[in-house]
Formats: sequence, C-alpha cells, structure tokens
Amino acid sequence: MGYADDMSLAAQGWDQPDAVRVRVPGKINLALLVGPRGDDGYHELATIFQAVSLFDEVTATLAPADITCTMRGAMATGVGAGIDNLAVRAADLLRQEYDIDAGVELTIDKSIPVAGGMAGGSADAAGTLVACARLWQLSADDAELAELGARLGADVPFLISGGCALGLGRGQRLTPTLSRGSYHWVLAMSDHGLSTPEVYARFDHLAAQAGRTPASPDLPRELMMALAAGNPREVGQHLVNDLEPPAFSLAPSLRTLLGVGRRAGALGGLVSGSGPTVAFLACDEDSATNLALELSSQGVAHQIRIVTGPVPGATVI
Ligand code: ATP
Repeated sequence: MGYADDMSLAAQGWDQPDAVRVRVPGKINLALLVGPRGDDGYHELATIFQAVSLFDEVTATLAPADITCTMRGAMATGVGAGIDNLAVRAADLLRQEYDIDAGVELTIDKSIPVAGGMAGGSADAAGTLVACARLWQLSADDAELAELGARLGADVPFLISGGCALGLGRGQRLTPTLSRGSYHWVLAMSDHGLSTPEVYARFDHLAAQAGRTPASPDLPRELMMALAAGNPREVGQHLVNDLEPPAFSLAPSLRTLLGVGRRAGALGGLVSGSGPTVAFLACDEDSATNLALELSSQGVAHQIRIVTGPVPGATVI
C-alpha cells in the first residue's frame, strides 16, 4: 500500500488539510451472547451493536515526523498518551502500512467513559484511522481501514461504520442490521472501570464452577425482529448480556442499579458490554428525561447521560 496515486484525493481536487477533526461514537451491545473460548483465548460472540450519541472527538494535525497525543476532558483521567494508547497505535499502524514519513499530533476530547464497556479506546482508534487517512491523503476506504482496525481491537471496525450491526466471531465480522426508528437510552456510568479480560475470566470461572461449557451462540433473532419492526417495547424485552453474571460478581452494585432503573419505568436495561456502564431504554424523549431525573435523585450512578441511537460511525466534521 502507499500514498494515493492517480486516483488520489489530491487528484480528485482535495487539498491536503493541516488538520482533520473526526467525531466518533461509543457503542452499546443490545445483545451479547458469549460462546466457548477459542484456542486464541478469545470467546466466540454473537452481538448486536448500536452506536449511540456519546462522542469522542479526535483532531489530527500534521506534524513533521513524530506521533504525539494529548488527552482532554473529564473522562480522559488515567489514560496514558504513549504507545499503549489505542489512538497512537492506530496512527502508527497506518503509517507503517502506507509507508508514511509524516507525523501527526493527536488531540482527543474524551466523553466516552474509560473501561466502561462502551469501547472508548476502540472508538479513538477508529477516529484516528479515519482522521489520519484524510490528513495523509491515503486512498484507503472504510473497508480497508476496518481491516486494519480489527488488528487493534475487535470493536474498531464497528465504530468506523456505526449504525446498528450484528457482530460475529470476536465481534469484528459485521453485518448491518435493519433498525427502524431512533432509540432513547439513559446511560448510568460508574466512577470505576471494569477490566474486560477480568470480566471474561470471571465468566469462565463461573461456567467451570457450574460444570457448564458454553455452546456456540445463536443469533439474537427476536431482538433483530424487534429492531427491524422499530418496536422499543419488544426491544426492551429482548436485551440480553451473558456477561452480566460475571459483571455482577465483580461489581454487585450493578444489580441494584438495574433494579432501580426498571422500577423507575425503563422498558428494559442491561450492562453494556463488559460493564460497568448500564443502559436503560426509554419509550421516548420525555420518558428518558424522567428516568434520568429519577436515577439522579436516587444517587445510584456517578454520571447519567441521555443518548440516542443508532448514529453513524467515525465522521469527519
Ligand atoms: P471494551 O468494551 O472495548 O473492552 P471498554 O469500553 O471497557 O472496552 P476502553 O475505554 O476501551 O474500555 O479501555 C480499555 C483499556 O484500554 C483501558 O484500561 C485503557 O487504559 C486502555 N486504553 C488505551 N487507549 C485508550 C483510549 N484512547 N481511551 C480509553 N482507553 C484506552
């Protein structure tokens, strides 16, 4: 791979920008069915992703040679800006694959909670791939960027495309899913993260304790039909996450939080991904506001946000 040639963006009339800003959403998993652990250490999944309107912003500014990164915002606490940062790794990978000499200065304004089960790190990687491809005027399309992104994390391809999709394999094999209408969610966020590998290890431990080997996951058909019909009540009834028992075992207050939201009128609620963010579905905008107020008044979450989904993936703004 190399710089775009004949059909390059420059040849198509695009001037090389000095900076590119990309808005990238977080995700929730409306279904997360977990199968057996493969030889590669990863579990086989069947998941329905929905991208929601809680966004990180990645700004990529042209720099002479190095890749640097600055993390900003209340949600950025505790995330390093070195090569362990998924955004830096994404820029580095793109540079190697396309043989780029130029550098980039990344600035990430973070609103997606860290280690919150909303794939914030993967979102920053997705945003960086899209921003740097434009900044360095590469010919890579979204499919090529998604292929590279899958090397960084299984959720990265989805955050490039966004919307609503079925994810198989480790979650990276995507099929867009028909989803009618817009869904109103209340996110209850914790001030502590949960480590994804720890939650999966607890999942394995609980299965071993029960003498159970997880079967290959089925498709969440009823949820898919409810989404296709655009029926929030049905969607609320079919939300499912096999990682809830291990997440409850590591963070027991999540069970209480879910009970509070359901009693306060949510159509359904579940832990997002490996947690600890909990997503409650409301039937409309007003109900979402009422639910958020009720959760706030009960002091059961560190931070409450109202979001909608599905929304597009990483987008240049
Ligand atoms: P997932 O659901 O994809 O497992 P998550 O939402 O639970 O992820 P992330 O916020 O993606 O968790 O962060 C997981 C870990 O990745 C954190 O412990 C963090 O230190 C590291 N990390 C690396 N780069 C980033 C980044 N840009 N933003 C957030 N976390 C990052």
